Amino acid sequence: MSAHCPRCTSTQLMPRQLGRHVGATTGVVSGGTTGAMGALSGAKAGAVVGAVAGPVGVSIGTLAGALFGALVGGTAGGVAGARLGEELDTKVLDNIECRACGHTFRLPLAEYPSYPSL
Ligand SMILES: [Zn+2]
Repeated sequence: MSAHCPRCTSTQLMPRQLGRHVGATTGVVSGGTTGAMGALSGAKAGAVVGAVAGPVGVSIGTLAGALFGALVGGTAGGVAGARLGEELDTKVLDNIECRACGHTFRLPLAEYPSYPSL
């Protein structure tokens, strides 16, 4: 069975994934903030570890710690944001757009048409 547009009955439908995009973006931004803080603590931890190896170890440790902290924070935020956005897409927002008339509407998950992976 195939889903169709409630306005013009066209089957030319496409998923909007608005929430997913917004969620991923805000997730990366807020994750970046978390990442910045992670970078700070990572830098401190890295400096302490690096101190064992002397001054050069301190700068290498600081850099590695900062990079790691930022990376983990940003990635985690982006993934969490995209998840949240997906939830919004499937449960709250109009998740389908009709390509024939531009009408947007929501389909229950059970009727959500399957698309080739985007
Ligand atoms: Zn339509």
